[in-house]
Amino acid sequence: MVATSPKNASFTKSLFFGNILEEMVFPYPQMSKEEKETVNILVDSFKKYAEKNIDTTKIDREEKISPEVMSTLSEMGLFGMIIPEKYGGSGLSATAYARVMQEVCSVDASLGVTFGGHQSIGLKGIILFGTEAQKKKYLPDLATGKKMAAFALTEPEAGSDAAGIKTKAILSEDKKHYILNGSKIWITNGGIADVFTVFAKTEEPDEKEGQGNLKKWKITAFIVTRDMGVRNGPEEHKMGIRGSSTTELYFENCKVPAENILGEPGKGFKVAMEILNNGRLGLAAGCIGGAKKAIKLATTHATTRKQFGKSIAEFGMIQDKIANITMDTFAAESMIYMTTALIDRGVEDYSLESAICKIFSSESAWRVINEAVQIGAGIAYMREYPYEQLLRDARINIIFEGTNEILRCFTALAGMQGPGQYLKEVGQAMRYPLKGIGPLSDFAVKKISRDIVGLGDRITKADIYLKKETALIEDYVKYLATAVEKTLMKHQKTIWEKEFVQRRIANAVIDLYAMICTVSRTTSFIQKDGLAKSKYVIQLCQSFCDRASRRIKRNLRSMDGNDDERLKDLSNQTCALSGYPFDIL
Ligand SMILES: Cc1cc2nc3c(=O)[nH]c(=O)nc-3n(C[C@H](O)[C@H](O)[C@H](O)COP(=O)(O)OP(=O)(O)OC[C@H]3O[C@@H](n4cnc5c(N)ncnc54)[C@H](O)[C@@H]3O)c2cc1C
Repeated sequence: MVATSPKNASFTKSLFFGNILEEMVFPYPQMSKEEKETVNILVDSFKKYAEKNIDTTKIDREEKISPEVMSTLSEMGLFGMIIPEKYGGSGLSATAYARVMQEVCSVDASLGVTFGGHQSIGLKGIILFGTEAQKKKYLPDLATGKKMAAFALTEPEAGSDAAGIKTKAILSEDKKHYILNGSKIWITNGGIADVFTVFAKTEEPDEKEGQGNLKKWKITAFIVTRDMGVRNGPEEHKMGIRGSSTTELYFENCKVPAENILGEPGKGFKVAMEILNNGRLGLAAGCIGGAKKAIKLATTHATTRKQFGKSIAEFGMIQDKIANITMDTFAAESMIYMTTALIDRGVEDYSLESAICKIFSSESAWRVINEAVQIGAGIAYMREYPYEQLLRDARINIIFEGTNEILRCFTALAGMQGPGQYLKEVGQAMRYPLKGIGPLSDFAVKKISRDIVGLGDRITKADIYLKKETALIEDYVKYLATAVEKTLMKHQKTIWEKEFVQRRIANAVIDLYAMICTVSRTTSFIQKDGLAKSKYVIQLCQSFCDRASRRIKRNLRSMDGNDDERLKDLSNQTCALSGYPFDIL
């Protein structure tokens, strides 16, 4: 495992300051021998069972996972992977859990989503925020799969804008229970769950006003069980992950005991965000499962299909596709297992890394599968082959657990918050130099060395063979920090509404994190196997870094020269015209 570093440091947030906390990401983390063994046993027994008993096409066609499959998988312990052993689960680390989720999703995405809805987000809140009594009461049955869990946040009027939920919980006169009324939509496991993490508005003291009597509606998280009166609507018919249960939920005067609050009253938004931060890595690992399956299909087809007297794998355009989908999957995998290791080491702030992993892996899996479809061509379009289901199943990952647009806004804004705060202090210090000089000195020194002397943080732990890639990372981290500062000075508070800018910053950071994780992992390969044996992985790393750095350059360069205003105008006009207005008739 990597050397320790402050638990409250965030690797990616530091990049926004131009800092590279290399101790956090070098050497590339390795699972312990014992953990590898545990995961291998779990993965092997799942694979063996799946080969004979899980028919993904049937699950897709019939839109359900059979009770026999569910019950065998619960016997294997797959429902309680992240639940601590003392509550009947297997207590897997974040890394081990993600690796198993990768395997599950490579067999069937509906199954992966069902597990994810149950563990990554459904019961995770009880592990993260539950009291001892809540854990003892709910986790043992959830660990065995006797009961299933679901996470219920989304409502018809509140999708990305989760703070806008309307479901309400009113505290009874005797303060012993809440009466819950409202509804939720598109809830994974909605038709099969017994235990729901439900988010509702409760009336809480308005701390900001500082007047005890004033109340405000704030979000509170509750553990709600079906027997409290939860009803679900019919199963939705979906584009993909059709075997997973997705329904509406209705709460009509459900009586929820006050002791079922998860976390603190009024702090439910934080509960939801923490659960999702964690859950996103299971989803990201699932994307790797789908991508690897697609690469297998693509390479098998490319090497066996002959056209113009040659196997199609010999044509440049097919080679370009295969090389690109391999390097993107390598980068995604490197980022995900770097991030799960950060969590396993006790790093508390991994919110940006997990958002980045979700964005990158869901989009790269989509590209990978789409390219596999192109390589398969005609056969890939036929339903009797697995490609089209893979494509349909993968599409949801870009949408749920925070759309990738919202996660890009989050990555850019949360990352810029730190430098923004410092710059505010810089401004204050200019006005009141004596007051501001102390806390600023570190930042100021760094800024001067970056802006004037041209120095930035160096990476010392990457293999020398990767010096070009390492230098690119160092340069672009400096470039990012400078671009962030310029942007903040230019837009100040209005940065919140500048999404064109946020997208560029987020894209640059995503690629930087991907490059760093890829270089770290490749360094580990070189150190373990030597240069000669690592040729393949070095080439993947070099080609990925080459492409990623060009994207970063493009994104940061166009912070100044761009056609954002014209694009806004174009979009506004197309919307005002209710669609595409031209025709040759
Ligand atoms: C199969 C499935 C399973 C689901 N499971 C669950 C579950 O278990 N629990 C749960 O609570 N929810 C669940 N959801 C809901 C899911 O999380 C939401 O669909 C998602 O958060 C997006 O909300 P929305 O669909 O209302 O889209 P909207 O919020 O209406 O967004 C529409 C589009 O606008 C974009 N957009 C919105 N706001 C902004 C902005 N500020 N800047 C830029 N772009 C923006 C979005 O990115 C998106 O492209 C599920 C959804 C599906 C389809």
